[in-house]
Amino acid sequence: MKTQDKWSNTSQHTRNVTTRVNEKASVTQNGAVLLGKHVACDAYDETRPLRVVTHAHADHMGGLPQSLKEAHKILMTKGTKDLIDAMQGPGYLRRGHVQTLDYGQTVEYEDERVTLHKADHILGAAQVMVEDHEGKRIVFTGDFRIDQTPILDSDVLVIEATYGSPHCRRRFHKETHNSLITLVKQGLKQGPVYIFGYHGKIQEVMQILNNADINVPFTVPENVYHISRVCEKHNMRLGKLILENELEAFELQEKNSPYIGFYHMHSRNKIGLDNFRISVSGWEFYSAIRQTDEKEYLVALSDHADFDGLLEYVRQSKPKLVITDNSRVRYGETLAKEIRKHLSIEAHALPKSNIF
Ligand SMILES: [Zn+2]
Repeated sequence: MKTQDKWSNTSQHTRNVTTRVNEKASVTQNGAVLLGKHVACDAYDETRPLRVVTHAHADHMGGLPQSLKEAHKILMTKGTKDLIDAMQGPGYLRRGHVQTLDYGQTVEYEDERVTLHKADHILGAAQVMVEDHEGKRIVFTGDFRIDQTPILDSDVLVIEATYGSPHCRRRFHKETHNSLITLVKQGLKQGPVYIFGYHGKIQEVMQILNNADINVPFTVPENVYHISRVCEKHNMRLGKLILENELEAFELQEKNSPYIGFYHMHSRNKIGLDNFRISVSGWEFYSAIRQTDEKEYLVALSDHADFDGLLEYVRQSKPKLVITDNSRVRYGETLAKEIRKHLSIEAHALPKSNIF
């Protein structure tokens, strides 16, 4: 009887803690990550006066026009603002009350404090910490890679779940940069090389190749050019960029000289089809490089933590409750289950998956 009392008290206590912390964070069907009472991250939410944009990837800018119209304040880093200005034009964000914050800088709103911290993902990417009136720390990681992301202590943690399945492990991670450099050098011996990736990662590849003293010109379309210039303004060293429609670029093409064309992944089916081509993708788990055709390669360069990295963040952050972001990817439920299993921490996926 005594034992039973003890257990029932404990489970009552656990229930109370869970109920209390559960109210502190959520993820809506629209993908808004709600922290504390006032903050909505990465999608519009009509109930929240503060909107945070963790970074400039499209799936984190949902409903930004509504937020610009209605939110009391929109918070982001200077890097993120500069990237959005480059993509949308400088007039776009002027329609709302945008405030830029440095990493570590805090904004107070009524009885809560909001601070952005660095996330290693793309230029300007941030994690968000809300400290509420009880002093509870409610953290959203945003997208991150574990390597250089500071791990924040939290009471409630909302974590991204892109690679939230045990199948998503990259054990060859450390070889990837060198493999990429070797592959590009091999391609340049035959002529031009075309590289395809998403915004942010393209510039990371430029930086890797530039640091490896690969000094051939980089030809780019206008959208990649503008984003690359923003990265250079924020102290990334990328190399010699030439717009694809400049005379110099045409001359390189005519002579079949060595150069590297950088394009968004969306152009992969129409650009440089007869050339040596490399796509950089996080969805590769078996080797750093995979050849998919005669002159076609995939390189496993990711700007997200893999499964082990996600678990490691949770372990070190020591939250009482974890919510996995189930709105952007399919592994929210899996990651929540694995966190419960490996770390014995209460974890739920939100929003709940639709069961048909
Ligand atoms: Zn992202």
